[in-house]
Amino acid sequence: MHFQWYPGHMTKAKRMMRENMKLIDLVIELVDARIPLSSRNPDIDELGKGKARLVLLNKSDLAEEHMNNAWVEFFREKGFVAVKVNSKKGNGLKQIQGAIQEACREKTERDRKRGILNRPVRAMVVGIPNVGKSTFINALAGKACAKTGNKPGVTKGKQWIRLNKQVELLDTPGILWPKFEDQKVGLRLAFIGSIKDEILNTEELALEFIKFMGGEYPGVLEEKYQIPSWGDCFETLRGIAESRHCLVRGNELDTEKAASLLLDDFRNGRLGRITLEKLDNND
Ligand code: GDP
Repeated sequence: MHFQWYPGHMTKAKRMMRENMKLIDLVIELVDARIPLSSRNPDIDELGKGKARLVLLNKSDLAEEHMNNAWVEFFREKGFVAVKVNSKKGNGLKQIQGAIQEACREKTERDRKRGILNRPVRAMVVGIPNVGKSTFINALAGKACAKTGNKPGVTKGKQWIRLNKQVELLDTPGILWPKFEDQKVGLRLAFIGSIKDEILNTEELALEFIKFMGGEYPGVLEEKYQIPSWGDCFETLRGIAESRHCLVRGNELDTEKAASLLLDDFRNGRLGRITLEKLDNND
């Protein structure tokens, strides 16, 4: 399977990121809880050198709870402050303030020694497309907060959202480009819908997904779609088409449609909580 990310986008994203990095103390990096490593871009470590770091396992509602906890532990062992969140429902957001303080402890201490007290932490949210950056910012900022900077008639600048006395958030998130040179990483990103389906063969992708499910979550598809266990990916896809009445020209099974339906069910959590990337299979 072939994936592509346009170099033009990448260059622009990287330039913006470098510019914005100069303005902030803290990088809040969102990853997808279903693929915590594959949804990262390790370049952020270079770009965010010297900044305080916070990793958020977003969409934790779609991934297995015990795996979420294991991944939080994994990131903590790597020296990041890490928290699992569900930005859509707001779960985990209460912990954010504490996590920000924890991540910025060194900076606060440094400030204090220089006699600087109560200077707010300036933070930026970063992550690959579709990981939930805007949803997170909106959930955290809510409606009540006032925007600062860039007032009409005043100097043009960045928009900052004042969360409280201690934290200001850049209102435009930093977009990281996905890294999918590795076939396995590319597949995982495609499964969660981070690579546009138009440039992929949906049926091929669904067959790969069925293969993954057969290995890691046996019986789940069979139960969901009320189909027998064939042990053959294409037969399973045909089974899903039959069970969901995906037909073309009257009575032929429409496996293309079934493929979209299956991926859609997975992406929306209708197959239950599924972690695609386990701690022990990310080699
Ligand atoms: P961005 O491109 O990183 O800004 O991503 P968006 O904020 O636009 O979110 C992409 C999609 O993910 C939207 O459909 C959101 O509703 C959904 N989403 C964001 N956060 C969560 C979450 O924690 N759980 C679930 N289930 N969906 C989420």
